[in-house]
Amino acid sequence: MDKNIPYKIYLSEDELPTAWYNVRADMKKKPAPLLDPATGKPVTADALSAVFCEELAKQELDNDSVYIDIPGEVLNFYKMYRPSPLVRAYFLEKALDTPAKIYYKFEGNNTSGSHKLNSAIAQVYYAKQQGLKGVTTETGAGQWGTAVSMACSYFGLDCKVYMVKVSYEQKPFRREVMRTYGADVTPSPSMTTRVGREINEKFPGTTGSLGCAISEAVEKAVESEGYRYVLGSVLSQVLLHQSVIGLETMTACDKYGIKPDIIIGCAGGGSNLGGLISPFMGRKLRGEADYRFIAVEPASCPSLTRGRYAYDFSDTGRVCPLQKMYTLGCDFIPSANHAGGLRYHGMSSVLSELYDEGLMEARSVEQTAVFDAAVKFARIEGTLPAPESSHAIRAAIDEALKCKETGEEKTILFGLTGTGYFDLVAYQKYNDGEMSDYIPSDSELEASLSKLPDIKG
Ligand SMILES: *Cc1c(COP(=O)(O)O)cnc(C)c1O
Repeated sequence: MDKNIPYKIYLSEDELPTAWYNVRADMKKKPAPLLDPATGKPVTADALSAVFCEELAKQELDNDSVYIDIPGEVLNFYKMYRPSPLVRAYFLEKALDTPAKIYYKFEGNNTSGSHKLNSAIAQVYYAKQQGLKGVTTETGAGQWGTAVSMACSYFGLDCKVYMVKVSYEQKPFRREVMRTYGADVTPSPSMTTRVGREINEKFPGTTGSLGCAISEAVEKAVESEGYRYVLGSVLSQVLLHQSVIGLETMTACDKYGIKPDIIIGCAGGGSNLGGLISPFMGRKLRGEADYRFIAVEPASCPSLTRGRYAYDFSDTGRVCPLQKMYTLGCDFIPSANHAGGLRYHGMSSVLSELYDEGLMEARSVEQTAVFDAAVKFARIEGTLPAPESSHAIRAAIDEALKCKETGEEKTILFGLTGTGYFDLVAYQKYNDGEMSDYIPSDSELEASLSKLPDIKG
């Protein structure tokens, strides 16, 4: 082990960032504006405020402020579980017999089990500031719902969660954690909203999708007085809050002279990846340093690698603003794979733009290969990773193995977004040899892509 670099780098409390970093400010070409689904014109903060909290609507549209102060109460909450450790994966390096150095930023050390709490606490704080009664939201795998439930119980707000049906059924314990924090949890599509009833009628027996749960949660928020909707990924405000991951990582790297060559993250809607890479991307955009960034997505839901860069609806019910993003089409319902947090049809408009400009790479990986990596990591490094996070582990291992072939001593950094304690049904399938891979055919993708709205952008 390297004597100068601890196995786990823990920053002190006063090294916590006090402002979030907004990568949009450093982008020469900004992400395309959100469009109002009713008028087709760019949305205003006013219009967005019907759905989102006012302050968050402002953050969503802010392409210019480089830094936005983290409110004191949010910072205090962060101190309960941050700074999160940056870990040198010495044991994995040894097992792979690679000259590469591997680091991971571990976000699983809180009860929500993932990075989602970083944005949940911020969003619920602004809801509280605005004097709201509560928030509605959707959850796929359950991590976001848990994070919002925790944030709501902390600030004393009501919390209504629409949980994608397949996860609701596969993960009863996750549901119970949310209820323990006081949230009201409904499987989606449900019969409690107009959108839910329509989807149930059109696709009987559907196991749901994030896009559909979003529509239900938005409908509920808009029709309930004193409620707004909060979203755990995709939006630029979420990437902003998640920049706390990248800022801490950068402070730790700078402090110990660590210079990552490759930075890897799993990508569902793009929030952890966007948060991790943002400050490093800022350096790249300003010409101060260079890095390779790799987004890793499931082969079953390949929005960056096989989607189209176009305006699309954010939700199946087509009520949210349109975003220009890499998308598979808002009607795309991915097969029931085990990385529920990565089953969204589109990708953050910020990351989509960076990818389109060639500033970031993307690859897709198959489920069994992901679990091979997850189990290897658990056995060697000790931590049981979330299936979502394991997409990044897969790519990090693959890059480290390439270094073994070429003899290059690259420094590889990846985001370990969470733990997999609620994903044991997936691990059970894998351990029993019953896990399969599903890759959508071109014609399947074409079916939903052909229905993209006809908007030039
Ligand atoms: C939600 C989630 C993800 C994917 O979401 P992003 O917005 O793409 O980061 C990844 N890992 C874990 C553990 C999650 O809970």
